[in-house]
Amino acid sequence: MLIVMHHHATDEQILAVKNTVEAMGLRAEPIPGSMRTAIGVLDNQGYVEDSAIRELPGVREVIHVSKPYKLVSRDFHPQGTVVDVAGVKIGDGQKAVMMAGPCSIETEEQMHTAAQQVKAAGGHILRGGAFKPRTGPHSFQGLGVEGLKFLSAAGRAVGLPVVTEVMRIEQLDVVCQHADMLQIGARNMQNFDLLKEVGKRTHPVLLKRGMSATLEEFLAAAEYIVAEGNSQVVLCERGIRTFEKATRNTLDLSVVPLIRGMSHLPIIVDPSHATGQRPLVPVMARAALVAGVHGLMVEMHPEPEKALCDGAQSLDPQGFAKLMGELSRIEAFLAELDS
Ligand code: PEP
Ligand code: MN
Repeated sequence: MLIVMHHHATDEQILAVKNTVEAMGLRAEPIPGSMRTAIGVLDNQGYVEDSAIRELPGVREVIHVSKPYKLVSRDFHPQGTVVDVAGVKIGDGQKAVMMAGPCSIETEEQMHTAAQQVKAAGGHILRGGAFKPRTGPHSFQGLGVEGLKFLSAAGRAVGLPVVTEVMRIEQLDVVCQHADMLQIGARNMQNFDLLKEVGKRTHPVLLKRGMSATLEEFLAAAEYIVAEGNSQVVLCERGIRTFEKATRNTLDLSVVPLIRGMSHLPIIVDPSHATGQRPLVPVMARAALVAGVHGLMVEMHPEPEKALCDGAQSLDPQGFAKLMGELSRIEAFLAELDS
């Protein structure tokens, strides 16, 4: 439920509403806006009888929200959230942010080389996986904590913030020590205990869409993080599983404009995992930008043919630099169209 206050409602009136909601055994979350304050009501199991609230001075409207997500919805928070990753801003009104780097951290040297290449081409955030959710147990599982050290050192050396996946609650402390942004992978999108723990941290979060998650489930997963107090969440469409085998996944680009309308959280696209094929990555990156993303995540490896993970979908440094050049031109063109 959302309680919308009159624009002239006083602090005392807002507090009285909050107290009334809490006396009903529910949680009240005031959401100040530029025009008026709204109060989000949380923790209700079903419909809330609202007559006691509707009557209170300063209350303009009571909206019943039956969706499983509220805090992440635009209804609750019309202004777009801008996520700050160690100074790199992602969200409405910002330039598209490029996160790039290898699928997995393999060696210290590989990570340093990749960092220099990402930086030189104009990338904004360095990626690399230390804990890898591989489909089979015999594949490379990542370097773990040693990899985190290589990643953070490489990022520091070139002045780029770093993002890396955390797979389990027990890894959170160490990942927070080394990373500027926490990635929740597609396979963990509905690991609700992990989402809640990440929600208790102050690190920004990159939440990837589960491979068979509906849009509603995706937003409800983000809600778990925001409900714990961390609203610094970036959503990432990385392809969903369909009957189509020609690509690794099916890039569901239409969720980009949908999410922009439904949620205030930034949305980015990962064309690497969505397609699984290097030649398709730049094309779908272009398409994502036109669809309105706030950023992109692509895999780039200094020598993709030697990659221990996801080489077939990784751009080489030249391909990445070419893509970066194209993207800035597309952004300039889109800005002109919108002006
Ligand atoms: C990754 O980014 O390396 C990854 C494993 O992605 P996803 O969770 O989308 O499969
Ligand atoms: Mn990968």
